[in-house]
Amino acid sequence: MSPRTLRTLQRTPVSQLKSVPARKVAGLRALGIESVLDLLTHYPRRYADRTNQVKIEALVEGQEAVVTADVVRSATRRLRNGRSMAEIVLHDDTARLTCTFFNQGWRAGTFSAGQTVTVFGKVGAYRGQLQMANPLIDLVGDLTGRIVPIYPQSGKANVNSVELFRFVSEALERAGPFADPVPLRALADLHLVDRTAAYHDVHVPEDLGAHQRARYRLAFDELLRLQLLLVRKKRLNASSSIGVVHYTAPGGLVARFVERLGFELTGAQRKAIREIASDLSLPHPMNRLLQGDVGSGKTVVAVAAMLYGVQGGHQGAFMVPTEVLAEQHYFLLSRLLETMSVPDTDRLSGERPLAVELLTSRTTSGERSRILAELANGQLDLIVGTHALLTGDVSFSSLGVVVVDEQHRFGVEQRAALAEKGQAEPDLLVMTATPIPRTAAMLVYGDLDHTTLDEMPPGRTPITTRLLGRGQESVAWKRVRSELDAGHQVYVVCPLVGGGAMEEEGFEEELDEVLDEEGGTEAGAADGRFAVDPAVERLPPRSAVEERERLAAGELQGYSVGLLHGQLPAKDKDGVMAKFRAGELQVLVATTVVEVGVDVSNATVIVIEDADRFGIAQLHQLRGRVGRGSAKSYCFLLADPVTELAAGRLEAMVRTENGFELAEADLDLRGGGTVLGARQKGRTDLKLASLRRHRELVVKARDVATAILDDDPELTDGRYRMLWDEVELFVTEEERQFLFRS
Ligand code: ADP
Ligand code: MG
Repeated sequence: MSPRTLRTLQRTPVSQLKSVPARKVAGLRALGIESVLDLLTHYPRRYADRTNQVKIEALVEGQEAVVTADVVRSATRRLRNGRSMAEIVLHDDTARLTCTFFNQGWRAGTFSAGQTVTVFGKVGAYRGQLQMANPLIDLVGDLTGRIVPIYPQSGKANVNSVELFRFVSEALERAGPFADPVPLRALADLHLVDRTAAYHDVHVPEDLGAHQRARYRLAFDELLRLQLLLVRKKRLNASSSIGVVHYTAPGGLVARFVERLGFELTGAQRKAIREIASDLSLPHPMNRLLQGDVGSGKTVVAVAAMLYGVQGGHQGAFMVPTEVLAEQHYFLLSRLLETMSVPDTDRLSGERPLAVELLTSRTTSGERSRILAELANGQLDLIVGTHALLTGDVSFSSLGVVVVDEQHRFGVEQRAALAEKGQAEPDLLVMTATPIPRTAAMLVYGDLDHTTLDEMPPGRTPITTRLLGRGQESVAWKRVRSELDAGHQVYVVCPLVGGGAMEEEGFEEELDEVLDEEGGTEAGAADGRFAVDPAVERLPPRSAVEERERLAAGELQGYSVGLLHGQLPAKDKDGVMAKFRAGELQVLVATTVVEVGVDVSNATVIVIEDADRFGIAQLHQLRGRVGRGSAKSYCFLLADPVTELAAGRLEAMVRTENGFELAEADLDLRGGGTVLGARQKGRTDLKLASLRRHRELVVKARDVATAILDDDPELTDGRYRMLWDEVELFVTEEERQFLFRS
């Protein structure tokens, strides 16, 4: 028999397996299993080690154990609620154990006294007696003495783990050997087991080492497929010529803009602008990621990029995640670009003022129509906006450069939508709010070129960060008062708006994603959001509305205390922000709306309440609101962390101010999290690979993918063609459309 390709297995429906009864087909479908390949890639969630048997006498409550014993009696009992329960009493030569099966009354009939069975489950107690509820139970000889896979199931599907195991066993028996398209050299270099062994051992390992080797191999395959896709996309992009060729000669608008900044560019900013200019002058579209720590000066670089577009007669779009930030960027741009002009042959003077506008969901409809008209006829040069820029009626006369200030919030689809608004594909610069670890960037932004601002502008002062428990909070308020008395300003950040409301919509959705990613079992900290530490009792989070009142009447009595959150009417928000910028408000009690980019250099203290509820990236962003002037700054994290994860996050914050280090710490603590976020949506192929567990493997997969594509750029060679076919097999249609949208 010739080796099976994954494609063949995908074409074979599970119903062809003899062990799969027709009545189970729908249940399997509910689990997402239609083909034999689906079945084989439905990996065990964990394994039960039945090689390790225990006598009943030695059972310990709360532990999982395997017991082999004889059935003493079995019976069905009706419960008061009308349901049935099977109760099977076992005995070995040491003691008795009762196993109960709720809602499975039928089970009683499948066992009779004297039979020997093996049960696996968690030891519990009921009325002082040890018992197991709903254990796995087998007749001896079946699965005893083995490592047994436990599969993820959903209650609705009505297919249990034991059944899945039976189906998988048949599939493995009939499927192998597997064709293996990964170059032998890579397999040898990375000590990877072959595919046949990998698929077998991930389901039926002889020992626990075998399943680890299997998972490692299969995780590599996942990462390799993704890297092949990303590296290929990057190369295709570099060879396509449908982009805009920009005019980047020195001395134009960019030079004038830099001149009037009032500070010298850092070396890193100069280098970044040079890299971007060189990209822009080429006929293929730029796709570049700009990384830099909070405060490293990404905005200046972004504006320079857009001005290169404008000076050649094209338009620039600056897309940001929040309205506050859009407004701030808009004000900054208007100020910096005031009195600049662009060529205009329709005017006598031969030029007109450079035109910048702001478009958000708050723009009035009259304004909006005017802006849209001017964008479409080319009278507008730069537009700053939120998601409002993505709506269908926005069109450009010649969109040249798009900057997306991503802040972890824009998704793949949104960026694609914006990019599609140009005739030729516009050049794209993506900026992250905080640094992303190298390996994560390889996965998430692997199709982009990278630029890193690894130098901070001079004059930033270190920030002293302290973690304070509920009993120590007065330390923070004392410092707040002394800073206010010295003429400085203060932020106080709370997780909630008020009345239990969360700050932004889309919140719950993201929570689900995080929980999905962590398998719902671990506390996952939502990177750009709240940290999720399920099932822990603690005080309810504080709200900005109530905290403002409390502070104004208590610790901060006599100072002017303002309130800012996303649910305020637009003009109130503007008013509060303006007053704070102007120094008329001394304290701003806010939700995370101040997180991104808000820039008031007179603010020297930020107090983050319930800090354990925020993720590292978000805390780092928040802390970056201070330390922007020459005065010493402080960050107080108020929290009594109840989980190790939360404590780890807060410790990292106290330990370092370096965003790159924090990003790595974050990855250590919890893996990819929402770094992968929206961009990860639909990326169903990463079932086993995880950023936490497979960091070096990500790099290795990248290297192997690069070598393969160097060797055979079109992947036409037989072995490589099979590999590419697998990429197409696993990567969802939606995602491929994004990656190859040009
Ligand atoms: P981020 O990278 O976090 O977006 P910003 O672009 O908001 O940082 O810059 C942070 C602050 O530093 C702003 O006030 C900006 O004007 C200032 N800045 C940027 N570049 C320089 C520089 N080269 N020298 C001094 N200040 C700078
Ligand atoms: Mg910024």
